[in-house]
Formats: sequence, structure tokens, C-alpha cells
Amino acid sequence: SHRITQHFLESRPYPLLLSIVMPMFNEAPLTAILREELTRFLPEIKCPVEVVLVNDGSFDQSLFQLIEWARSDSRIHIVHLSRNFGHQAAATAGLEYATGEAVILMDADLQDPLPVLHQMIAKYCEGYDVVYGQRASRLGETVFKKISAWAFYRFFMKFIHRDIPVDTGDFRLLSRQCLAAMRRMGEVHRFLRGMVTWLGYPQTAVLYDRQARVAGETKYPLRKMIAFAWTAATSFSDLPLKGSLYLGMLGILLAMEESVRALINYALGYTISGWTSLIILNSLIGGAILFCLGIMGDYIGKIYVASKDRPIYLVAKSYHFPQRR
Ligand code: UDP
Ligand code: MG
Repeated sequence: SHRITQHFLESRPYPLLLSIVMPMFNEAPLTAILREELTRFLPEIKCPVEVVLVNDGSFDQSLFQLIEWARSDSRIHIVHLSRNFGHQAAATAGLEYATGEAVILMDADLQDPLPVLHQMIAKYCEGYDVVYGQRASRLGETVFKKISAWAFYRFFMKFIHRDIPVDTGDFRLLSRQCLAAMRRMGEVHRFLRGMVTWLGYPQTAVLYDRQARVAGETKYPLRKMIAFAWTAATSFSDLPLKGSLYLGMLGILLAMEESVRALINYALGYTISGWTSLIILNSLIGGAILFCLGIMGDYIGKIYVASKDRPIYLVAKSYHFPQRR
């Protein structure tokens, strides 16, 4: 039932340069662990690697720790944003700064295990342009987060954008060709995984077990998750707008039924009765109108923000310290 564009896959050599992009916001508790793990892991990659760490306007000591790290390791690049722009914008900044032939976007908290990178690169070498990590399981997350994520991917995404693979976050490898294409998508309300699906190109998944955070805490509380889900819905689909149309049609049907009833009552001389239904219908229609106006208003608000055409992120400074001999 699922229709997938067929591509002729041509195998290709290992990338000349691999970029690893990590957006970071208030991750001071984990920078030391990240540094240790990456330093141990990177030599396993059989090509030069650059690590693009995007400091998304952290409030804590992250930036100073990262600069210290970059001073002693020329593979580390820091993109320091002027303030906190949010995960999707920070990821965009990192993807645009990365110069690798293949670029891997992942969280800094090591919930996405480093060895999965080998599988992703292998798929890249088979000829895939997008290799996304698909979660077979989630460890060390609350039951609530698991259930809400499960529901989000199943009902919501299937409904809104059915081509978006389930249980897939932003952890993925992208080829240069894909990145170039993505640069042409200047939208402000960014939902990266939806944008990547929209791109097309040969895409495939690697399954992995999502780990618990190594340190620090999640930056996605319930409030932000709901806001993110709403962005996903409204920046990728006009379904909520259509929903209000259907609601309006339901209202018209109800009104027709009530009119017939009122006319019959009038003909039979019961004109005084009908207060209850009048009040109910009135509030029903009023509520429906306000509801639909609210949804329209949300879209107009998005148009308003988009029409300002502001940059998605601002870089205060980037740091890279090539070693001198
Ligand atoms: N992040 C960011 N800017 C933000 C929020 C989060 O750059 O405003 C980063 C964060 O440091 C982490 C990644 O985005 O590297 C994913 O965030 P988190 O782990 O909190 O999300 P979760 O895995 O809990 O969904
Ligand atoms: Mg995380």
C-alpha cells in the first residue's frame, strides 16, 4: 500500500570528509562525557571527521568548555549562536556550517549511540542520500514520554504527513546533495524531519535502541512537545484548516435540521417553545466559529511571522583552532 519512488542505487566510496553536527543548549553537565566518548570513537571512522557543535545560546558554562575542547582538538568547530533559537534552528545552523561530503545530525546527549554511525555510513556507501535512525526501543525515558511519543508518531504523523517514518527523530545522515536541496527551503517554522521527507531522494532507515541521556536533563518538557507537534501539523499541512471547514459543514447540517423543526413548530402553533434548542444551537455555532477563527488565526500568525523573512538563526561567532606545529 505504501508507494515509494524507486531509485537506482549506485555504490560510492567512503565520504572524503564526515561532519557530525550537534546542537547543544545548556549541556554543561555532559560536555566532559561527550568529549571523552567522541575522542575514543572518532578514530574508528575511516575518513577525516569534523564535529560541528552548535551552542544554541546556552545559559551555563557550555561555551567556555567547548572552546577549551576546540583549542586542543582541531576536529572541533563551534558555531556560537547569538541567543537560544531552539533545537530546529540550531540544527539548521549546524547543517549549513558543515562542509563534509556526508553529514550526520545527532543530539549531544548520546541518546543516539555512536556505533550507529557505522551503519549509517555503510548505507551512504550503498548509495542512499538520507539514512535516518529509527528507534526500536527507548531506554531510560518516562512511561509518559514513551506513550506520548508513540501516540504522536502513530496517530498524528500518519494523519498529517503519512510519508514521515514513525519513531524517527532528527538523528540522520544526509548527503551533500540533500543538504544543498535543503538550503533552498528557507521556511521559518521548521520541522526538519518533515522537510527531509519532502526532499525525496533515496532514503532508508537503520534501527537502533535509543539510550538514556548520559547527563543533564531533557530540554523538551510537555509544553514544548505540544508546541512542536502543533508546528509539525500546521507547517506541514492544511488539515486543521480543512477540519474547520468540516466543522462548519456540520454546523450547516445542524442548522438545516433545526430550521425544519422550527418551521414545523410554527405551522403547528408551538412558537413559544424552542428556547433550549435556540440557546444550544447559538452557543454551538458561536463556539464553532470561534474555534475555526482560532485555527485560521494561527495560520495567519504563521504567515505574519514568515512574511518578516527574518533569518532562522544568527551566529555570534564561530570558533575553530587549527593546531600549529
Ligand atoms: N537543544 C538545542 N536547543 C534547544 C533545546 C535543545 O540545541 O533549545 C539540543 C539539546 O542540547 C540536545 C538536543 O537539542 O543536544 C535534543 O534535546 P533533548 O535531548 O533535550 O531532547 P529529547 O532527546 O529529550 O527529546
Ligand atoms: Mg535527548
